[in-house]
Formats: sequence, C-alpha cells, structure tokens
Amino acid sequence: MVEKSATSRVEKLFAVKGMNDILPPDSLLWEWFEEQVRDQMALHAYRNIRTPIVEQTALFVRGTGETTDIVEKEMYAFEDKLNGEALTLRPENTPGVVRAAIEHNLTYDGGKRLYYMGPMFRHERPQRGRYRQFYQLGAEALGFAGPEVDAELILLAHQLLSKLGVGGVRVELNSLGVASERQAHRTALIAYFQKHAEMLDADATRRLHANPLRILDTKNPAMQSMVQQAPQLLDFLGDISLKHFDTVKQLLNACGVRWSVNPRLVRGLDYYSHTVFEFITDDLGAQGTLCGGGRYDGLFEVLGGRPTPAVGWGMGIERVLELLKVQGRSCAATSPDAYAIISENAGLPIAMQCLQVLRSEGVSVQMHAGTADGLGSIKSQFKRADASGARFALIFGPDEIAEGVVTVKSLRDGSGAQLKQALNHPTEWAKSLQSPA
Ligand code: ATP
Ligand code: MG
Repeated sequence: MVEKSATSRVEKLFAVKGMNDILPPDSLLWEWFEEQVRDQMALHAYRNIRTPIVEQTALFVRGTGETTDIVEKEMYAFEDKLNGEALTLRPENTPGVVRAAIEHNLTYDGGKRLYYMGPMFRHERPQRGRYRQFYQLGAEALGFAGPEVDAELILLAHQLLSKLGVGGVRVELNSLGVASERQAHRTALIAYFQKHAEMLDADATRRLHANPLRILDTKNPAMQSMVQQAPQLLDFLGDISLKHFDTVKQLLNACGVRWSVNPRLVRGLDYYSHTVFEFITDDLGAQGTLCGGGRYDGLFEVLGGRPTPAVGWGMGIERVLELLKVQGRSCAATSPDAYAIISENAGLPIAMQCLQVLRSEGVSVQMHAGTADGLGSIKSQFKRADASGARFALIFGPDEIAEGVVTVKSLRDGSGAQLKQALNHPTEWAKSLQSPA
C-alpha cells in the first residue's frame, strides 16, 4: 500500500512514451476493423495464430536479421532477471509464426494459411504513424511455392483495404529473384558504390559489405540520384524468376488490382526471394507505408526448420485507422438501445432480472448506477438517460413494479410517447427496443 499523507500527493504515473491507450470511442473503430479482418480472413480461408509477445532474442537476431534497423537499434531486448534468458518484445511476428510452425510441425500435411493481429514493439522516435508499441495485422502462407499465393496475399490485403473503405492506396511490386541472382547483383552493386565511395554517408559506408541492398533504401537526399542510377536487381533475374514475377503481375491484372514496379523496393536479407510488395498512401506524410510483405523462402532454414517456401505481409493498424480518419471515415459512438431508470433499491432485483432477459434477446441496456447514498432522483436519472444517447428509457418505479409493468418512454423521436410493458414477459417486447439494423 502507498501511504498518502495529508500534504503530499502521490505522484501520477503515465503511459510509456510512444505507447498509446486506445480509448472509447476510438476503440469502436478498432473493434470494427478487427471484425472486418476476421470476415476477410475467413473468406480467404486464413486461420488465426496467436504466438507469445516475448520470444528469445536469438529468434529476431536470426529471423529479422542482424543487419536490419530493427535488430541494430529498435529492439526491446532484456535479460530475464530470474533465469538470465535473453528475451525480446517482438518487433514483428513473422519469425514467431515460423518458429511456431517449425516447433509444431504445422506444415507436415501441406501448406497453412495463417493470420495474426497484435502489438509489436520497436524503440523508434515516436511521431504520427510511428509508435513504440503499435499493432500489426499479418498474413502468412506457409508451404506454398507458387506465384498464385503471392498474388492471393496481395489480393487479400487489397480486398481488406477496399472493404474498409480506404482509398488512394497504390501497390508497388518488385522481385528479388533467387540467391544466385542476388549474389551477382550484389557484386555489381558493391562495385558501383565503391566507384561512388565519396558520396556514401556513414551508414552506407558501414553497410557496403554487410548489406549493400539496404543502401538502396536510404532516405538521405544527398544520395538519391546516385542510388537511382545503381544497378537494378531486376536486370539480373533469370527466366524462372521472371516467370514467377510475370504470373503474379498477370493474376493481379486479371483481378483488377493496379500495381507498379518499384525496382528500389528491396529487403536486405538473404532469406527473401521473388516477390516483394508494399501498399502505400500519400495521405499520411512520411509514414505512408500501410503494408509490406514478400516471399521469404529461406527463413524456415535460417530458424532451423526444413526448407519451406513461404510468403506474407504485415500491415500497420494505426496507420490504416489514421488514414480512414483522414479520409473522413469516423466511427459514430454507438449508444445503448435503452437506459434503465430505477427509482428505489427495492426495485433493483426485479429490474435487473428484466434487463438480463432483454440483453439475452439482443437489446443493449445501460443500467443507472447510483452513488453510495442510493440511486438518486428520477430527474437526475433522466438526465443520465438523455446523455447516454439511448433511444428509450425503461422506468422501473414503485407504481410500475406494484403493477407488474415497466414504462417504456421514447427519448429521441420528440414524441415522448410512453407505454407499459409486462415485466414478466420481456421477450415479447424486447424486439421493439432494438435499433433498426
Ligand atoms: P517503416 O519503413 O515505416 O519503418 P518498416 O519497413 O519498418 O516500415 P515493416 O517491418 O515492414 O515496416 O512493418 C509492416 C508495417 O507495420 C509497416 O508498413 C507499417 O505500416 C507498420 N509499422 C512499422 N513500424 C511501425 C511503428 N513503429 N509504428 C506504427 N506502425 C509501424
Ligand atoms: Mg521501420
């Protein structure tokens, strides 16, 4: 117990920087988003997977990649004080899903299509669309090598965004080919960058041999034109890779998804191959990437599993919801159907029994809650009923209860109409309280 003295106040506590509370009415938008996701995932036959938020640090060092921003500087890594284990709050969930798939041999009887939603943690500079705890929706198709699944996943994200009513999102694609093609490109890339060594910034110089592809990703304006001229991976792709990429493009065309190729869209890790893609909006400033994904055929082996082709994406939920708001889609606060006004404590048991039946019939009811001194005057209860937005007041007064009825009063249509309904048979009149669908 914290002792409070009469003079000193107990110090207030605040949420950790970059980690947000999601409060009503915003949380309604979140719930609505989650429902749309569940619908779309079911329609595409993707099943939910839930893995722990904390994993061994080694999972991300290997699975996300030692040379990535995430592992280099964004991870909440810590030592478990009790047993010294090196643990990390997940910065992304693809490694966790693949770890679970290997651990439970999920693909033993064929491919699996999975999705998850949940919090991720990255120690970044908080700003709009960039937080330290943020939520990702992810979809992963494990055990499928064909380009049709790459297309299916892009279609899935596209379908979800259009169902949500998000507009103006463009799809950018690229292909990373296979390891030998990337190796040839990498050699050419290093040679090119060495030729322009004087233009490389400190980050780029450091990455030159560790991860030259990442240099293409630079946000340094001074390097843009040099990077634009760098050798493109697409020019190093062989027939098989080109065919894979073409099929993805054709399938997207057939399904009416517009895309463009961005040769600079890369993932600097060796376990990526073939298709990579992003969904981007111009309406959110610098944090415009809503969804990013690609094929990661090598990841299972990196994590100690059998070779298993796989492809997936991750979508930033805050960014999608922010975009919906920017584009004028707000979620009206939902009001209860009815507000229960109860004049005396003696009426509580009967009133609450009646409310339970109404709720089981699908009526949403907010019950008046009093203070330690009692339920308060009818007048003050009516004020609360009004403020609740409910369409009806249910009045459980002493006369009503004696008569075996409840008075139902209309609060919103201006009529003030009231009628009496049988207390014992709420199922018979419950439907009349529900808002039209
Ligand atoms: P960025 O370039 O914006 O940092 P990223 O390449 O690090 O993105 P991914 O690891 O591909 O992002 O994650 C997938 C999606 O998750 C991103 O497209 C974005 O929508 C979202 N996301 C990533 N980091 C954050 C964050 N710190 N806060 C909010 N959303 C994020
Ligand atoms: Mg990032």
